[in-house]
Amino acid sequence: MGKGKGWEKENCCGCQACKDICPAGAIHMYMDGEGFLYPETDEGKCTGCGLCESVCPLKNNSRGSGQELYFGMQAKDDRTRYSSSSGGMFPLLASEVLKKQGVVYGAGYGSRMEVLHKSARNSGQLEGIKRTKYVQSSLDGIYREIQRELEQGHQVLFCGTPCQAQALRLFLGGKDEGLILVDLICYGVASPGIWGDYVKYLERRYKGKMKNFSFRDKRNRDNGHTCSFMIDDREEALPLYQDVFSRMYAGNYSIRPSCHCCRFCKTERSSDFTIGDFWGIEKVRPGFDDGMGNSLVIVHTKKAEELWKELKKETRWFACQKEDVLQPRLQTPTMAAKRRGLFMKAYERLPFSLFINLVGGWKQGRRAKKVL
Ligand SMILES: Cc1cc2nc3c(=O)[nH]c(=O)nc-3n(C[C@H](O)[C@H](O)[C@H](O)COP(=O)(O)OP(=O)(O)OC[C@H]3O[C@@H](n4cnc5c(N)ncnc54)[C@H](O)[C@@H]3O)c2cc1C
Repeated sequence: MGKGKGWEKENCCGCQACKDICPAGAIHMYMDGEGFLYPETDEGKCTGCGLCESVCPLKNNSRGSGQELYFGMQAKDDRTRYSSSSGGMFPLLASEVLKKQGVVYGAGYGSRMEVLHKSARNSGQLEGIKRTKYVQSSLDGIYREIQRELEQGHQVLFCGTPCQAQALRLFLGGKDEGLILVDLICYGVASPGIWGDYVKYLERRYKGKMKNFSFRDKRNRDNGHTCSFMIDDREEALPLYQDVFSRMYAGNYSIRPSCHCCRFCKTERSSDFTIGDFWGIEKVRPGFDDGMGNSLVIVHTKKAEELWKELKKETRWFACQKEDVLQPRLQTPTMAAKRRGLFMKAYERLPFSLFINLVGGWKQGRRAKKVL
């Protein structure tokens, strides 16, 4: 896997399925200068079995599950919506699976604030994997773990980016009856390396240890356009557009190369559910637009249809048409910023504090204004 003839960074989404499936342990991940993970094969250990190629979501594209039903929804319970990024579809699905003693997988923070997928077996653990983190999450060892859970007869809910979801489908090779696969509408994932440096930068600036970071805080009822973070037991909050990391992401500077030619920017997916923000809800159902977020839900399979029927009673929902929901990321990939190359060169060559000042950190250099 990796650097054969014609190999380009655009052809690797960093899902880590190739590493997880390799029976010879011949693949390891390394971080490139932009801060993204890529696989590298130890040719001495590789037996040429080809399993790594068979689980690559970019080489084995999804044909789609055949069905697409479109819904807008919001959880009736405001606490559920508050603690999630959109309308709360993920926490409702997750609670249903936990009720049946199942296991839920999603992206949370590790001890150094790195973003990684992990399991939740109860509502306490679920809190840690709610909410959007705009950083690429690591799935090291997660595919095998999910395979084991399914073999033991547990129901498993997995939620992740469409490339991660497709990789899991391929990894399981059809032995996935107990799996509920949820993929996200995805703008692209930001560099874990830049994120790690940013966390250290904020810790130095605010003199403490970062405990949490919310990219989509809804306390201002602004559809999550506020971000907040905890340093030790102090909370800092600022408008999302003033947070430098979020600005680098939204300006399309720090996104993974493969995201700029993503094959999953369409409604056809091999997942059970696709979920995202309901962009443009103010035109489709103005009454739903209360600043607390709404979910777009695409139901792809019979399994998903059954589950959605059970969940509906806990939601306010409406059915809609494909043309109501076609936001940009269901049609085309995010375009890279014109100066992405220059930006990355600066990141690779400059000390981080200098780099962040250069790209706009001076604003954050002053103490973040409390907006809550
Ligand atoms: C990187 C990224 C880009 C996105 N871009 C868009 C977009 O352009 N348009 C749109 O409509 N929606 C986008 N979303 C989806 C949206 O932000 C919400 O995550 C989604 O609607 C689910 O919200 P919720 O209220 O149902 O539950 P939430 O509780 O907010 O659930 C979020 C779910 O996403 C998972 N997750 C969080 N961060 C990551 C990550 N880095 N990698 C993989 N999984 C993660 C969590 O584990 C959880 O399962 C994006 C999400 C991510 C992570």
